This record gives sequence, C-alpha cells and structure tokens, in this order.
Amino acid sequence: MSDLLTRLLVLQDRAAKLLIAHRAVEEFPDEKEEMLTRLAARKKADLEHRTQALLIDAARKKLELESGSLEVQIAKFIAQRSMARKQAEYEALEHEIEASKAKISLMDDQQLALMDQFEAAMHSVAEEEKECIEVESKVRTAILALEERAAAAQQELPTLQAEVAAAKAALPAEVVTRFDHILRTKGDRAIVVVDHGKNCGGCHMVLGPRTLLAARSFEEAASCEHCGRFVYIP
Ligand SMILES: [Zn+2]
Repeated sequence: MSDLLTRLLVLQDRAAKLLIAHRAVEEFPDEKEEMLTRLAARKKADLEHRTQALLIDAARKKLELESGSLEVQIAKFIAQRSMARKQAEYEALEHEIEASKAKISLMDDQQLALMDQFEAAMHSVAEEEKECIEVESKVRTAILALEERAAAAQQELPTLQAEVAAAKAALPAEVVTRFDHILRTKGDRAIVVVDHGKNCGGCHMVLGPRTLLAARSFEEAASCEHCGRFVYIP
C-alpha cells in the first residue's frame, strides 16, 4: 500500500470519528426534544382514553338518576290511581305506570351495558398507563445515555480535531483540499474502494483504465472521474 494511501486512510478514519463526535454533540438537544415530544403525545393519548372511559361512567350515572326520578314518578302515579274515581282516569294512570316501568327496564339494560363498557375501558386505560410508566423510564434512561455520549464527545473534540489536523499535515495540501471538498459536498466517505475491479465504491460508475491503474498504485491520489472521490484498489 502506498504511503500516500495509508495517510489518506488515516485521515479518513480520524475525520469519521470527529464527525461522529460532532454529531453526538450537535444532535443531542434535538434527539432529546423529539423523545420528550413523543412521550408527551403518548401521555396525552392515555389521558384522553381515561377521559373517554369516565364519560361512559358519567352516562351510566345519568341513567341511574333518570331511572330514580321515574321510580318516584311511578309512586306518584300509584297514589293517584288509588284515588281515581273514573275508569278512564284509572286506565290512563295504569298506562303511565306500565310505560314508566318499561322505560326503567330499558334503562337498566343500558346501564348494565355501560357498566361493562366502562370496566373494559378502564382495564385498557390501566394497561396503557402501566406501559406508559415503563416507556417513560426507558426514555429517561435513553436521554441520560445520549447526554453522557454528548458530554464525552464534547470532551474528545479537541483531541480528535488535533488528530485530524496532524493527519492533514502529513498529506500534500492539494490532497487535503480535495478531501475536505468531497466530505463537504458528498457528506460521506472521501476515499472509497474500487468495487468489482472497475466500479467507483461511491457513485458506482465504471472507472476508466487510467484511473484503475492509478487506483492500484496510488503513487498519486487517484480520483473517480465521475464523482471526484478518491478511489483505490487494496
Ligand atoms: Zn465515483
């Protein structure tokens, strides 16, 4: 392996480590924010489910009250019926009593159904809330880990920067300029292996014979004629 290639690979390795450290520092606030936002959305959804469950219970209680009022009404009808003088009056009250009783029976059925619904809904709510506590604990742990990683990366930055600078100092200025340009424009590896003996490992285009020769010896920095990345054949 040519000396130039060895030095370029050292630079690439150190530049990659520096990039990872930079990202760990820069992306931490956004990552934390995103995790907390997702957690808050989760809690909000759980709370909405609890509210919906309580509405079911409120509807059942309303029926219970209405049913109670009807019971009172029936008692009044019975009292009136006992004092009815005319047959028609008696029958009308009798009819009211039967109709009210039928309504109460219907309401009882509805209350039972609502009770079942409420029980099932509260069961899911309890499960969700239990799960949410676990999720929250995991999120807090993950945030702590990210925070530690960011802090460690922040500490490492000066060393990594110095190592990249040292690797650059060992290379011709013109090669360093090209290296920086590729990293800036491509955002990934500046130096890639030739694939299948003929393709650039970055853009996958077929390389010309002269480039392939240069990539093999690497006496001078060989570049892909399509994307500009440095190419080499190990
Ligand atoms: Zn290429």
